Amino acid sequence: MQQQYYNFCAGPAALPTTVLQRAQDELLNWQGRGVSVMEMSHRHPAFMELAETAEINLRRLLNIPNHYKVLFLQGGATTQFAVLPMNLLADLASADYLDTGIWSAKAIAAMAPFGQARLAANFAGKNQVPSKTQLQLDPQAAYVHYCPNETISGLAFDYVPDTGSVPLVADMSSVLLSTPLEVNRFGLIYAGAQKNIGPAGLTLVIVREDLLGRARPETPGPLNYTLQAAQNSMLNTPPTLAWYLAAMVFEWLLEQGGLSTIAEQNQLKARLLYEQIDSSTLYINTIKPTCRSMMNVTFTLDNPDLEILFLAQAEAAGILSLKGHRAVGGMRASIYNAVPVAAVKTLIEFMADFERRH
Ligand SMILES: *Cc1c(COP(=O)(O)O)cnc(C)c1O
Repeated sequence: MQQQYYNFCAGPAALPTTVLQRAQDELLNWQGRGVSVMEMSHRHPAFMELAETAEINLRRLLNIPNHYKVLFLQGGATTQFAVLPMNLLADLASADYLDTGIWSAKAIAAMAPFGQARLAANFAGKNQVPSKTQLQLDPQAAYVHYCPNETISGLAFDYVPDTGSVPLVADMSSVLLSTPLEVNRFGLIYAGAQKNIGPAGLTLVIVREDLLGRARPETPGPLNYTLQAAQNSMLNTPPTLAWYLAAMVFEWLLEQGGLSTIAEQNQLKARLLYEQIDSSTLYINTIKPTCRSMMNVTFTLDNPDLEILFLAQAEAAGILSLKGHRAVGGMRASIYNAVPVAAVKTLIEFMADFERRH
């Protein structure tokens, strides 16, 4: 019998098997056109239709109001760290940033050439997010930036900050599409695709229309939200293959019943895994319980000498990519949408068995 594999990679991460199978079936001859989808012009009516349908489906999934633009860009979330101040800072000197870990810190560092990143909360390394009353917001800020899910430490906000009339900006790279969202609470949302949306190479930006038109004049065209919005994200050649795959993921999500159904499954997966950790004496998660990520479950072993053995035996059992981020070590199980409940149950059984044996 063929070995079963379970992929817990933090990113690029698991994609739905049915999506990959369909891509395989269609790879050499898309829609009977005699060529692969990645071998045709992005201006071909068939691709334009694909792009349009993808946006419609994404809007349906997230209930995106009409006064928001959706952009399908390149460069990953890291590029957005700099593109954001280029586009939104305008004449304002500073923007507020909540520092809750490695990704929010990188966004802060990337802001430096453009203006002041004012720390509205300094919670780096604290294993919890600031409470609502601990946010020190500047009403004059150009925007407030935060990372709702710190992918590396497995730390998540359990609320959406209220920033009044200052636009709220969120790096949702590892949570977008994992649960329903009130888009109108945000001025701008961005996410690299390779966690929950599709393959690497595509970056989604959802931006409120009134925030367009503020880019610095020297902003390069492909990085200018306003110009990209005016050209339906086709100012230059977009990442067509990644767009096509993301479009299939959107369809898959709708077939699953949309984001409320997906969120229930994600909650179940996370609950099972945290229960396993909490009921054991070997596995430890150090995040404050209300701030535990539903997507990235981190843990260490009480006996660190066992970690290499744990990872090796997991791999041998087909349980892949549990090694934590190189910056923090330990273990991390990323349980994005495409990771089935069965995979989490297999992991839990393995963890219990490993604990019995050691
Ligand atoms: C993965 C990740 C990034 C980095 O994405 P790139 O596509 O590699 O630039 C940034 N922020 C968060 C929250 C992430 O999870």
